[in-house]
Amino acid sequence: MAFNSADIGAFKNVWVFCEQRQGKMMPTTFELISEGRKLADELGVELCGILLGDNVDAIAPELGNYGADKVYVYNSPLLKDYTTDAYTKVISEAVEEIKPEILLFGASNIGRDLAPRCAARLHTGLCADCTHLDIDMPIYKNFLKEASTLPAERIEKLGTVKINGADHDVSRDIKMTRPAFGGHLMASIFCPRFRPAMATVRPGVMKKRECKKNVEILHPAFNLTEADIKTEVVEVVKAAKKLVDLIGADFIVSVGRGISKDVEGGIKLAEELAEVLGGVVGSSRACVDAGWITADHQVGQTGKTVHPKVYIALGISGAIQHKAGMQDSECIIAVNKNDTAPIFEVADYGIVGDLFKVVPELIESIKAA
Ligand code: FAD
Repeated sequence: MAFNSADIGAFKNVWVFCEQRQGKMMPTTFELISEGRKLADELGVELCGILLGDNVDAIAPELGNYGADKVYVYNSPLLKDYTTDAYTKVISEAVEEIKPEILLFGASNIGRDLAPRCAARLHTGLCADCTHLDIDMPIYKNFLKEASTLPAERIEKLGTVKINGADHDVSRDIKMTRPAFGGHLMASIFCPRFRPAMATVRPGVMKKRECKKNVEILHPAFNLTEADIKTEVVEVVKAAKKLVDLIGADFIVSVGRGISKDVEGGIKLAEELAEVLGGVVGSSRACVDAGWITADHQVGQTGKTVHPKVYIALGISGAIQHKAGMQDSECIIAVNKNDTAPIFEVADYGIVGDLFKVVPELIESIKAA
């Protein structure tokens, strides 16, 4: 079913797809609920979670701790394991029935698979991999002025414009921001003609904020049979090695290509420094591409977005794609032998020098303190 502009006034409330695995809510869900609360408050509407699984009622109230007003729960043994067919069907039909105006997914493996399917099924737009979400009328008006055939005075004068003959309140459009052209510019994307406006949001970008609500748990009727599911989950294989938890870490010591003259020694120094601080080791993409460290350590646009208390960058130049993942850290310390390295532009403390000399001294002084 396609919703065109004539229908968009019927859509209300902000929805968040609440990703759970084996009955445990994924951290991104709480980040999105907090962000969804902000948007819902700006629009003066309700924030609702949509939670799919098998017997997942027990975890639904957790969403009330971060600001959800309602949770729509869909329980079925057919939803126990994630399958694209089943989840797409249930979510798309729920959207057609209840009509949220905004629908957010985490840009996790599941979110990246599910959101485009739902968007295609619902004939609406999807902005993938967002780093910022806003309700921003002035920018939207400028956008309309430039991109639309509507007369400028109409856009200026009215909070409502006509799109395909229907009234549309421009102040209610979500501005979705995401990196474009390899991270060299940030693009603002609007979805004025279709509903819901859909976005996937990078894990770790939005901050989780507590906000207690008396959450209402609802169980709408739905239709799902085995015939709707064309795939079968045969086995779930856990990663053999425990992946590094960059997103939850307070201290991150990241290495860059600056360790190239002694890769093993450089990583060992970073591990020692991380250990004395009680932190973990991150890296730039250069080290991952060179095969020096595994991809779960990568910070940046195509890696993880982190905001630890302290981020230490060792031999990292500070390319825009790296900064995109760490510049919101509370305190940034950079060690680089080139005093013009761009990493110093975002660093709170900079040490110009050879990391192989500086880091052992840092470790010693922390141990002595
Ligand atoms: P370099 O840029 O080579 O910098 C090495 C630094 O080490 C230099 O500043 C040098 O002065 C310093 N140095 C050398 N020796 C020493 C020493 N002994 N002591 C101290 N300092 C020393 N990059 C990411 O990191 N994360 C991403 O997610 C990411 N995504 C990308 C996505 C796209 C689409 C593209 C196009 C690129 C992406 N990149 C990403 C790559 C990015 O553009 C840079 O190439 C990369 O970040 C550079 O890594 P680096 O800083 O380790 O290496």
